[in-house]
Amino acid sequence: MADILILGGGYAGMMAATGLDRISEPFTLINNHDYHYFTTLLHEAAGGRDEPMKYTVPIRDMLRKPSSRFVQDEIVRLDRERRVAVGRAGEYPYEWLVVTLGWVPEYFGIPGLAEHSLVLRNIDTAIQIRRHIESQFEAYKDDGDPTHLRIVVGGAGLTGIELVGELVDWVPQLCLRHGIDRSLVDIQNIEAMPTILPQVSEDLREVASRVLTEKGARLRTNTKIVKVEAGEVHVEGDEPVRAGTIIWTGGVRANPLLSDAGFTVDRRGRAKVDAYLRSVDDDHVFIGGDTAWFEDEQGKPLPPTAQVATQMGQCIAENVSSAVHGHALKPFHASLKGTLASLGREAGVGNVGKIPVKGFLASFFKEATKVKYFWELGGLRLTAEKTGEIVHIT
Ligand code: NAD
Repeated sequence: MADILILGGGYAGMMAATGLDRISEPFTLINNHDYHYFTTLLHEAAGGRDEPMKYTVPIRDMLRKPSSRFVQDEIVRLDRERRVAVGRAGEYPYEWLVVTLGWVPEYFGIPGLAEHSLVLRNIDTAIQIRRHIESQFEAYKDDGDPTHLRIVVGGAGLTGIELVGELVDWVPQLCLRHGIDRSLVDIQNIEAMPTILPQVSEDLREVASRVLTEKGARLRTNTKIVKVEAGEVHVEGDEPVRAGTIIWTGGVRANPLLSDAGFTVDRRGRAKVDAYLRSVDDDHVFIGGDTAWFEDEQGKPLPPTAQVATQMGQCIAENVSSAVHGHALKPFHASLKGTLASLGREAGVGNVGKIPVKGFLASFFKEATKVKYFWELGGLRLTAEKTGEIVHIT
């Protein structure tokens, strides 16, 4: 029996695993891919900045100790009664469980959206988006239908805006390669709320808007997507938009395995944890990252971000090891260091601590956060390797 079983190799799961690896605490990590990918950089992979597989790292390379075990499988069910995680390839009993299974797209029941849109969810879907856009440019050359050159991104949160930023930098290269006039390409961001990027201050939103608009994106706020059909987006109170590429970045919810297993969850499907990141329903289960519903001192749930997930994973490594050995657990305290949104390759907006940053400076800090994460995950070796590959400070 695996004493400690970690499900999911995202930010929280990898931090829990590498933390336990460092102290030689035996565990088994199960993930559906044999690599960990950098979710916060998927827009770069989708938008042609660097080769998609550069945004991954083999999980086995991150685990050094013989006591650390990795199994590639997809978990489909949690059997809490029997203390077993059920995968497609087998069953995995546990004494202590760490659930860090990430998120799935939130479609809000909008008809046709799941069937007819692409999502930026993992490396496979980033590659799918990239290839799809390239194929639409090819199709335009074949039949001259301008619909192929319209890209709709639904949702102007951080994911949508970072993706649009990447696309406006990539499209001119694609146009050049295919001999297509840039003015024929229409990149539309469609957002239901009155503003883009609610996470940043109003003046920074204006900067983001200006940068993206100047590079040729159309930002349509106060425009709600209500239905999607093949190649057509229906919005409230306006004409439908025909588009060759429809990408949905309108929200996320926790992996449904937790609610299916009967854990206490919030409206986004996240399972409630106590101060030590243990499930309130089972003190042998730790939950972290986007699957955890953790409230700060003011009773506010923490957002599902990589920053929080990384810190949760580090705390879980310590706490699960303490639990195994009967030591006192440590309460989790998130240290929020700010938010940064890239706007393509050379610009960004956000705040570092309480200081607002924009333009090249924001972009510089964004690249620096990559380096920080490589260091936390894989030390000098990973930092040297990945910094050479996907960090661009111009
Ligand atoms: P989000 O929920 O933050 O944003 C989704 C946007 O879609 C919202 O603005 C919403 O109003 C809009 N929307 C929803 N329904 C719509 C509809 N029917 N029509 C048009 N617009 C609609 O989702 P996200 O951007 O994927 O972010 C998810 C989480 O991940 C957040 O907590 C975010 O902070 C985090 N994240 C962080 C970073 C970063 O730190 N750089 C990057 C990406 C995501």
